[in-house]
Amino acid sequence: MDNPRPDAPDNPCFDAFDRAHLWHPYTSTVAPLPTYKVARAEGCELVLADGTRLVEGMSSWWCAIHGYSHPALVKAAQEQAARMSHVMFGGLTHQPAIDLGRRLLRIAPEGMDKIFYADSGSVAVEVALKMAIQYDPAKTDFLTVRSGYHGDTWNAMSVCDPVTGMHSLFGPALPRRRFAPAPAPIHDLAEPWDPADFAPMARLIEAHRDTLAAVILEPIVQGAGGMRFYHPAYLRALRAACDAAGVLLILDEIATGFGRTGTLFACEHAGVRPDILCLGKAITGGMMTFAAVLATAAVAERVCSGPAGCFMHGPTFMGNPLACAIACASIDLLLAKPWREKVAAIQARLRAELAPARDLPAVADVRALGAIGVIELKRPIDMARAQAFFVRRGVWLRPFGRNLYAMPPYVIAPAQLTRLTDAMLAWCRDEAGR
Ligand SMILES: *Cc1c(COP(=O)(O)O)cnc(C)c1O
Repeated sequence: MDNPRPDAPDNPCFDAFDRAHLWHPYTSTVAPLPTYKVARAEGCELVLADGTRLVEGMSSWWCAIHGYSHPALVKAAQEQAARMSHVMFGGLTHQPAIDLGRRLLRIAPEGMDKIFYADSGSVAVEVALKMAIQYDPAKTDFLTVRSGYHGDTWNAMSVCDPVTGMHSLFGPALPRRRFAPAPAPIHDLAEPWDPADFAPMARLIEAHRDTLAAVILEPIVQGAGGMRFYHPAYLRALRAACDAAGVLLILDEIATGFGRTGTLFACEHAGVRPDILCLGKAITGGMMTFAAVLATAAVAERVCSGPAGCFMHGPTFMGNPLACAIACASIDLLLAKPWREKVAAIQARLRAELAPARDLPAVADVRALGAIGVIELKRPIDMARAQAFFVRRGVWLRPFGRNLYAMPPYVIAPAQLTRLTDAMLAWCRDEAGR
């Protein structure tokens, strides 16, 4: 179909029930934007209900690193579902949870020792924040940086960027946190760094060291809060300042983990280890919702020597065997392939192919790191128009705010990646100024 109109009732991509009754993320149910019905997904493509094939530029929000319907992941899911899809984790354990734990400790930053399995990224952030409180109940303050994103649940929301996040909507209902300015944006991790970048954060840590439970932030790449990259030296300075002040450092690698930025975990760019680490999104290769919170032995020991004698959290679907088995298969698949070379090749191609956008009048900035390519526009992007534009061009991209970005599966073929970057350039050239 040349010009899919998913809001046209005769289009197989349109579903009247969906439009009438289903809430979509950040979308009105009263005056909804069009949604496109996907029939199946394979490799690096989504296949819409009318047969239109779209090159996947989003990895379903950073998750589907191996593309879709990968035989190894499908097999792991089928075999585990047939054996035991779920059992409670209270008082019981199982091989998939153990196997995943071994893999995570093998690849995670050194020092991580105890693993808490959670159901989604936001829950992982809640768990990390709760751990920090149970670590020292006398300290209840949290500090983060602006332009961050940590999820949509109550406390996760409270540490998101207060402007682009939801602070104004939820107002005083949200717990109050402390915010340092966002780290200075960079284009290349090898750029020189000005230590003045860290000064405001250093002052906040020093001023509030007695009440701060933890600093939480995304390492190196700030994702949904603005698609910004910052300098590894900032993270090193933060680690040192947290240590000096006795404040925990929580790194949220939910978006950056599992190779996305060119290292297995983004904190490796800085050689920094967190006290608490949140993982999610790509952990199951995009097959299922799942997350993990890793902590050092020292954190776990203090948490469990408090009045409760344990960490007070235990979701119904904690340690879900199906998700654990798929996560094991996904990690094995990642490590079995030259993922580092693949991601480096994607970075090189994104940098080369997006560079011409720099000269376009609608464009404010262009940057790429690992398998993340961003064109920042000067004005907010009209989502409905952009979606129709990209679907017409056979690609799936979903911009937000002023950011048009691609985060493809690592298995994307060079020609498919070029289709994505061509479409991004075309938007900036033809449509952005209208
Ligand atoms: C997506 C994301 C979350 C929230 O994860 P959900 O699974 O959507 O709850 C938290 N932190 C970061 C950095 C994320 O990108």
